[in-house]
Amino acid sequence: MVEQQLRRRGIEDQRVLAAMATVPRERFVPEELRHRAYRDGALAIGAGQTISQPWIVAFMTAQLGLDGDERVLEVGTGSGYGAAVLSRCCREVVTIERHRSLAERARRVLAELGYDNVEVRHGDGALGAPDRAPFDGIAVTAAMSGAPPQALLDQLAPGGVLVGPVRHGEREVLARFHEDGRMEPLVPVRFVPLLRGEEE
Ligand code: SAH
Repeated sequence: MVEQQLRRRGIEDQRVLAAMATVPRERFVPEELRHRAYRDGALAIGAGQTISQPWIVAFMTAQLGLDGDERVLEVGTGSGYGAAVLSRCCREVVTIERHRSLAERARRVLAELGYDNVEVRHGDGALGAPDRAPFDGIAVTAAMSGAPPQALLDQLAPGGVLVGPVRHGEREVLARFHEDGRMEPLVPVRFVPLLRGEEE
């Protein structure tokens, strides 16, 4: 996976490549799909949600430019895999998931793997985690409509960036956003939508 899906397709960040080589992706995938865990694509994880393609996780993490000492917020925990990869690249991770069942499963897997610098919260990630802000980086793993929620931009530390997909009508692009809302488009993508509120 690291050679063929990542390095060959331009992922160079050593910290990210090491994390992708270390984190056991099969632990974040439902039992019956384990044989497909390292495939070059997204997989269904329940509650109508998906674990992102390995390349997307690596690319988004690399875009945060982490050097090991940061505090990072992830919006959309899903399986917990992205949070696990982030946790190997920075000091601490707060990750928020609106589906309680997914948040609980991710929390359990992360604890079993001993990734104790990740806090999993159940709630509406669009509100961020003001009690833990500011964040040096924010990764949003569900498609935002038009622009990132202002609450998230407000929780960025000076010089911090938010990476995530934005949808404009039918078009969706992964982009980097700065504190002032300035956007740098990166690649076309397809994510599940960022929904407001939380689910049991
Ligand atoms: N990072 C995940 C990919 C998750 S897919 C992984 O590595 O597996 C996106 C997730 O975002 C879904 O689980 C979805 O339920 C969640 N989501 C959507 N809107 C949300 C919101 N407002 N707050 C928190 N989570 C949200």
